[in-house]
Amino acid sequence: MTENLANPKNTIEIIKKYEFTFQKRFGQNFLIDGHVPEKIVAAAGIGKEDTVLEIGPGIGTLTQYLAREAGQVVAVEIDRMLIPILEETLEGFSNVTVINDDIMKCSLKKLCDEYNGGRPMKVVANLPYYITTPVVMALLESRAPIRSITVMVQKEVADRMQAGPGTKDYGALSLAVRYHSRAKIVADVPPNCFMPRPKVGSAVIHLDCEGMELLPEEEEKRLFALIKAAFGQRRKTLPNAVAGSGALPYDRETVAAALERLGLKPTVRGEALELAQFEALARELDRRN
Ligand code: SAM
Repeated sequence: MTENLANPKNTIEIIKKYEFTFQKRFGQNFLIDGHVPEKIVAAAGIGKEDTVLEIGPGIGTLTQYLAREAGQVVAVEIDRMLIPILEETLEGFSNVTVINDDIMKCSLKKLCDEYNGGRPMKVVANLPYYITTPVVMALLESRAPIRSITVMVQKEVADRMQAGPGTKDYGALSLAVRYHSRAKIVADVPPNCFMPRPKVGSAVIHLDCEGMELLPEEEEKRLFALIKAAFGQRRKTLPNAVAGSGALPYDRETVAAALERLGLKPTVRGEALELAQFEALARELDRRN
């Protein structure tokens, strides 16, 4: 059966047929409104030349839309109870491979090598909310060839991903997103587009990773260790937060002096610095150490 699943009737029908019960621990909220997968596919700019990695296909609702547009779809689903359902709902598509695994245990580089000859993939997902941030961070930090990431997340997480300095939403996630991509929220999605309904609103965010210039791996690690230390205790001044984190070999005086050399006050907090300033501070600390 390749009947469209993006409506309550067909979703209930297939779930009943397989006596499937929703697993809260896997963050299962399936899409039941066809406008949403259409928007996701359009935002991701999927064409026949693309190989798409889908995280958490569920019963295959979004997968069907992806399979119609893409050259190939590789879908990783943790819940083995969904595998027989996906066999039925994706039966009509010869360009879909379903893998029963935990995405957090998969090597993204290996997936790109195996399914796309090492060429960049586009990642698309209606992410399970219990691991949204770890999954996005793993994708960004993987150094796997990823062209773009188009994902449904809680509205509040989408806001954090797009936030700028001096706002309450700004943090390590915003900086990681800014470093790896150009981010754009492309749609707000209300709870009634899902079954079961989540308690919070959602949003689709598109991260375009193409052509981003990354630092050498070691420098990048030091930069993000600094950023994580700065936001680990975000109410503290930067010198106190970094020295107090224990994650970096700098005492508060060293950090204060480096800030001053960059024309910044030693009382500044991490939340006031933009990415270029964190990069300059990481370089300054490294140079003097
Ligand atoms: N894509 C479907 C849709 O839009 O209707 C389902 C989305 S649902 C929000 C999240 C899906 O991710 C569920 O099918 C869930 O079982 C799966 N999932 C949860 N944790 C996962 C993990 N660690 N690795 C792979 N899939 C996971």
